[in-house]
Amino acid sequence: MEIGGSQGAAVRKSALTPKAIIYQKFGTEAWYKVEEVQESNQNECPGLAITQKGPCLYRCTLQLPEISVVSGTFKKKKEAEQSASELALEKLGINPAAYNPTEQDPLDALVGRVKYLFSDEVGYCAVIDAWEFNFLTSLHPLSGHFRAALQREGDLYGCVPVSVIAFLDSKLSSLSKLIDPKVELNPYKVISYVMKAAARSSGIVHTSEEQLWVRRQNPYSLEITDSAFQQSGSPGIFPIEAIYIPCSNEKNINVVKLNVSSTDYYLDVIANQLGLVDTSKVLITRPIGRTSSEVRLYFAALEFMLELSSDISNAKRDMHSDGSCNTRASYLSGEDIYGDAILASIGYTWKSKDLFHEDLSMQSYYRMVLSKVPSGVYKLSRGAVLAADLPLAFTTRTNWRGSFPRDVLCTFCRQHRLSEPVFSTVSISKAPSKTSGLHKKLKVKDSAVEETDCANGSITAAGAKEAVESGVTFRCEVKIYSKFQDLLIECSPKDSYKKQGDSIQNASLKVLTWLDAYFKNLDIPVERLNCSVCELDIKFNPKSVFEAFALCRPIQFFQHRESPDGRLDESNAMPGQGICGPDSGVSPSNGSLSCISYSVMLVIRSDNTKVLLESSDDFEFEMGSRSVIHQIEAAVMQMTVGQSAFLLADMPSPEFILAAADDSERILSALSSKDCCLKYAITLYRVTEPLEDRMEQALFSPPLSKQRVEYALHHIKQTSATTLVDFGCGSGSLLDSLLNYQTSLENIVGVDISLKSLIRAAKILNSKLNANSGVDMPSAGIKSAILYDGSITVFDSRLCGFDIGTCLEVIEHMEEDQAWLFGDVVLSYFRPKILIVSTPNYEYNVILQGSNLSSQEEDPDDKGQSQACKFRNHDHKFEWTREQFNHWASDLATKHNYSVEFGGVGGSAGVEPGFASQIAVFRSGTAPILLDDSQNIADSEHLSVVWEWNSSTRS
Ligand code: SAH
Ligand code: MG
Repeated sequence: MEIGGSQGAAVRKSALTPKAIIYQKFGTEAWYKVEEVQESNQNECPGLAITQKGPCLYRCTLQLPEISVVSGTFKKKKEAEQSASELALEKLGINPAAYNPTEQDPLDALVGRVKYLFSDEVGYCAVIDAWEFNFLTSLHPLSGHFRAALQREGDLYGCVPVSVIAFLDSKLSSLSKLIDPKVELNPYKVISYVMKAAARSSGIVHTSEEQLWVRRQNPYSLEITDSAFQQSGSPGIFPIEAIYIPCSNEKNINVVKLNVSSTDYYLDVIANQLGLVDTSKVLITRPIGRTSSEVRLYFAALEFMLELSSDISNAKRDMHSDGSCNTRASYLSGEDIYGDAILASIGYTWKSKDLFHEDLSMQSYYRMVLSKVPSGVYKLSRGAVLAADLPLAFTTRTNWRGSFPRDVLCTFCRQHRLSEPVFSTVSISKAPSKTSGLHKKLKVKDSAVEETDCANGSITAAGAKEAVESGVTFRCEVKIYSKFQDLLIECSPKDSYKKQGDSIQNASLKVLTWLDAYFKNLDIPVERLNCSVCELDIKFNPKSVFEAFALCRPIQFFQHRESPDGRLDESNAMPGQGICGPDSGVSPSNGSLSCISYSVMLVIRSDNTKVLLESSDDFEFEMGSRSVIHQIEAAVMQMTVGQSAFLLADMPSPEFILAAADDSERILSALSSKDCCLKYAITLYRVTEPLEDRMEQALFSPPLSKQRVEYALHHIKQTSATTLVDFGCGSGSLLDSLLNYQTSLENIVGVDISLKSLIRAAKILNSKLNANSGVDMPSAGIKSAILYDGSITVFDSRLCGFDIGTCLEVIEHMEEDQAWLFGDVVLSYFRPKILIVSTPNYEYNVILQGSNLSSQEEDPDDKGQSQACKFRNHDHKFEWTREQFNHWASDLATKHNYSVEFGGVGGSAGVEPGFASQIAVFRSGTAPILLDDSQNIADSEHLSVVWEWNSSTRS
């Protein structure tokens, strides 16, 4: 689906914020001071001796030449600043809504600003909070250039390149935008406006017709120059490493040394490196990456960029087609860049008069490249470029590692100069379904929908508490806009969450997943992109998306490559191959946290060498969510704690390898030989089971799972059952345990929809059945075992007529209507003589969650907020009270002529709140109802056999 409408109006003037108005009126004379205010929140627990720490809030003091105001407290610094500005405007009698920014001719204001920059005039210095300095001696980043210009020799003495003035003074660019909104699209136009203003500032400044520099007409007084050069700069030459990005993609990016000395102007050095004689032709981009960084691109201006009248779009088109557009540099900066460019981390800052500089390595360059893609941002946040991957699902906050989806999305938007994402959550209050009579009713969720305004996804503690108690859930919608407010992407997932924060993370992850797929193949036809939109609940505007990421298009480095030869993975490896070390029996399951140590080597086959690319001793990730590259997940799935594995993986595109490696020279030459592969060495040294499993093990003796097995055993013994089918067998824990006992069982079957779990079950059962070949072994009586892949809510003739059916802790993993459907299918068609169904008793959660074990697991933001209980496992779709379970089982039993009895394990029937796991045992009535259509469906076999074992083939 696509979003229609929004006809990319190129430039829209937005109303000015109070802060922007203050800035226009007072410029650097407005001084903001933000302080943190710690508010204790005592409302939670009045009697508590220790005051609990409340959220950190901010208060802003705004000082103007004549007045000063103090804001209230806010959650965000920005909000405090805006509020202070608003108060100041009120005091000054300015109505922000009616404020007409063009009151003063912006060109006059521009002239005024240029005059101020070059004058002796004293200004208000925010940093030292005093009216002391003129511009030359101030800490404005631009003033460093002014001082450096005074160190230039000969004709260039005191000449400041206009480009520098235009790019480093935000007041000049915002005034230019007022004169001409198109400046937004072509920031280089500011240069022309500054030149115009300079020409009107005669008497104070001097400009040159051909060259783009401005100089003060008369020398500064000695007093001023003396104080300007006080305690500045350590002498000597400081070579810094920068990255040279040639315009032609054929040429390699390389490191260059800039030999800057304390007596040189660093821009002269950069110009020289770019082969320019005239430094004032050097253009500078905005900071790359973090806004506070000094990393910028430097390149030579082209005529057309500076002409006020030129038709940029035509010129741009020519530039793109004649190859003078530097695609790699443009990709990085999000601006059009022409010719060769230099990426350097150097410049004057607000913090010190000294020149800030830092070496850039090839690795830092490739990391910047990676950080333009969602999965790249995530990998970097985990410090694992070659091991981590953007997960497919957000399960719980406590299982997530690395930056949260919402933060990754915000970073992505900032990186691409889009607007901040807009989140809106809706709270849904579910009508109580506890005692509804007919199960069909349960399908219809009576929901009252109420919109909460939550642009930044925060919610008050009181709101959250109320929400949890009343069974309210949240749904979140995310919208991504271009910087011109064109709607690009809209994601409205149907899933609802018990926590507002989770709904935001989930929706953010969907957007990221879509964007990542898009970035991995920017040439993907729109129809193909549409495939994933339904699944991800995404709508997008192809035209706007295309425009927003137009500069990323020329670089196609994320394209999928063919995988190399043999490697250990799920599809082609036998269980256990490539894995070494004894089997400890402790293996990870979906939803558990695995902790591994790993190292990745680049193996260069031609000269038989290996280069270490990346390693970690302690890398934890959630199984089953694809939060690591798939080869690692597949291998770990087959391993047990203590085992190691080696695997060969696909060569990712070189950028990933270069972002991980610190010796790029060597890697580049190795990569060019093309005979390389990646070798991963992994050791699994810890597995943390999902909370539910840990609770069942730690709080019950014997563990609840064992008690469930014993419950089933009891019925097997009573009835001398020979056939058993385990519905939703998972990784085979029940079937495996049954093999430890001497029973009458001969044929056992397991069914599940998780292929991964079934593969693990197959491995376990296979080794046990083959090992237990001796006649006196407990499982000697077993003649056959089969595992099927498929849903237990669909009929399959092979599941009919078993002595016992078990379905332990499965129904709560389905939607309620599916649980009813399962009951209907199994009792009407499969008709086992006995059916044992277990599911958590929701009422027992108070006890489980009151234990220490669970409170450790709780989110910090959850503390003390909720009396209502969480479900035991994030995958549970429901957890029923005894009454709800009773209703389900009794209804089904009556309908299908079964009797039903209730029992359970953990806790006891007589003591509130009953058993931990509640169990229903159905027994078929004497005269089963024969269904007319049983003939028609008799031959439907939808399940597929995953593994089959027969005693005659026993090895
Ligand atoms: N019975 C096992 C596993 C319980 S976990 C034990 O007690 O250890 C729940 C299992 O139900 C999961 O393995 C899940 O894949 C399976 N499941 C959920 N819905 C299913 C469906 N419709 N058909 C078959 N299996 C299902
Ligand atoms: Mg469960």
